[in-house]
Amino acid sequence: RAKQSGRATYRIFEAQMDAELQERKALEYDLRQAVLKDELEVHYQPLIDLVQHDVAAVEALVRWRHPVRGLVSPADFIPLAEETGLIISMGEWILETACRQVMEWDGLRVAVNLSPVQFRNRELVETVREVLVRTGLDPSRLELEITESVLINDSSAALEILNGLKGLGVKIAMDDFGTGYSSLGYLNSFPFDKIKIDKSFIGDMSSKDKSGAIVKSVISLGQSLNMTTTAEGVETPEQAAFLAQEGCDQLQGFYFSRPVTAPELSAFIARWSSGKKTGEQAA
Ligand code: C2E
Ligand code: MG
Ligand code: MG
Ligand code: MG
Repeated sequence: RAKQSGRATYRIFEAQMDAELQERKALEYDLRQAVLKDELEVHYQPLIDLVQHDVAAVEALVRWRHPVRGLVSPADFIPLAEETGLIISMGEWILETACRQVMEWDGLRVAVNLSPVQFRNRELVETVREVLVRTGLDPSRLELEITESVLINDSSAALEILNGLKGLGVKIAMDDFGTGYSSLGYLNSFPFDKIKIDKSFIGDMSSKDKSGAIVKSVISLGQSLNMTTTAEGVETPEQAAFLAQEGCDQLQGFYFSRPVTAPELSAFIARWSSGKKTGEQAA
């Protein structure tokens, strides 16, 4: 009996695995098509400079406009793109699209996320160099965001690539700071220009005294290391005020704007420079 029900359970399990595999295959097929059919879009979220009180940069965030599923978030397809290697061509397309777009926004910098898989590709430095040449973007206007997962496996290869990228004149930011195992160690060993404080700390600031204290010390750490600090996930005026008071350089979050399409971001910049510097644009 036990054996029988065990077999039945296994069959259900097998059917489930099958369904999941099918679903994954379908998604993978769709994703390959997406690249060919132009279904990918880059959205932009502003980073507000607290000293200049201006839009300093935008972060490029990829979206997939799926004909049936609607707007798919990167969390739902980047992992698949990484497993299949599609991230290499996709990443180059995102980088080029973002660099070309930011040329239309006077003096603004653009931050582009790099996947660890792109980082394992020896050609990364050459790819970035070519994109800069093709688009004509001044390298100092490009920031590449990496998380510490990039550095974990082969840190000497990673350091070589990072130095190669720095040699092009682009800036390097450590994304999601504080969520990994040894953010401090990596900060010490790699040439970062910028720290992005993970949004989990910002979101917790009002409920946990500890998060506020951590955020404060990361900001002063950034100051003493001569790195720019950005807080991500700023959703309320209270969070913005606290971060400003503590000397954070840049703020990014729904309080200012969600990631939006390029025309919407142009409108945001126009509104911002016409003086509506309050939370009116907040979602
Ligand atoms: P990330 O690089 O840390 O990007 C910030 C994420 O926080 C974005 O999610 C953004 O929409 C979200 N966010 C911004 N402000 C707020 C806020 O105030 N509250 C909350 N709750 N969230 C906020 P998104 O666009 O879904 O991207 C998620 C992650 O997917 C990114 O995290 C990044 O790791 C990855 N990703 C996105 N675009 C790309 C890309 O073009 N290439 C690669 N390799 N990864 C990407
Ligand atoms: Mg990022
Ligand atoms: Mg982040
Ligand atoms: Mg993140």
